[in-house]
Amino acid sequence: MHYAIPAWELPSVPVAGSDRHFPVRRIFCVGRNYAEHAKEMGGDAAKEPPFFFMKSADAIVPVVPPGVGRVAYPLATSNFHHEIELVVAIGGSGVKVTPEAAQSLVFGYAVGLDMTRRDLQSDMREKKRPWDIGKSFAQAAPIAPIHPVTATGALSRGAIELDVNGAPRQRGDLSDMIWDVPHMIAFLSQMYRLEPGDLIFTGTPSGVGAVNAGDRLDGRVAGLTPLSIEIVAPAA
Ligand code: MN
Repeated sequence: MHYAIPAWELPSVPVAGSDRHFPVRRIFCVGRNYAEHAKEMGGDAAKEPPFFFMKSADAIVPVVPPGVGRVAYPLATSNFHHEIELVVAIGGSGVKVTPEAAQSLVFGYAVGLDMTRRDLQSDMREKKRPWDIGKSFAQAAPIAPIHPVTATGALSRGAIELDVNGAPRQRGDLSDMIWDVPHMIAFLSQMYRLEPGDLIFTGTPSGVGAVNAGDRLDGRVAGLTPLSIEIVAPAA
């Protein structure tokens, strides 16, 4: 194979407890997926099907502790938001799978941040235009190492948290998800054949907010390697 221009390195994420890396094909993200007041809501009568958007695969920023990822404050925004999320790594191929069969596609799980240019997303939403510029941009998807499901078992509960500069910002539990991972995969697989290398960001609990250069973000999901990043000034 002779490329006409220099080829870039395949985006990849380290696999926890191993010297292997998970190559990234596509990044799917789920829209609002946590009930903000789960106890008050009582039941799921108001459930709507999940909706999805995408980020470019090269938006990932792999971070391995004790390292702290450096994420440059992005272009064209003045309202740069954090969204702490459980990330599901897909290791199998499947289309139109049932929720019962969906778990077999899961390779593993990681802690990720769906970084968002909220002002651009909101502006596009108001104008009924695509969200892409609010969600898909350089370094928009920091991610910690992926834990194989063979080690973790299927994840359906456990704390998901984010601190900014040591103060609590987001607090939730995976069990608060409106659509759990198997149902989410089943829905997504109605529209796409899922393939090995796909990542799914599974939505964020309440408490999202803005960050600026100099801020330190520490994200955790129970049982997984934590994710820490620092927002740095944009490159000149
Ligand atoms: Mn999100």
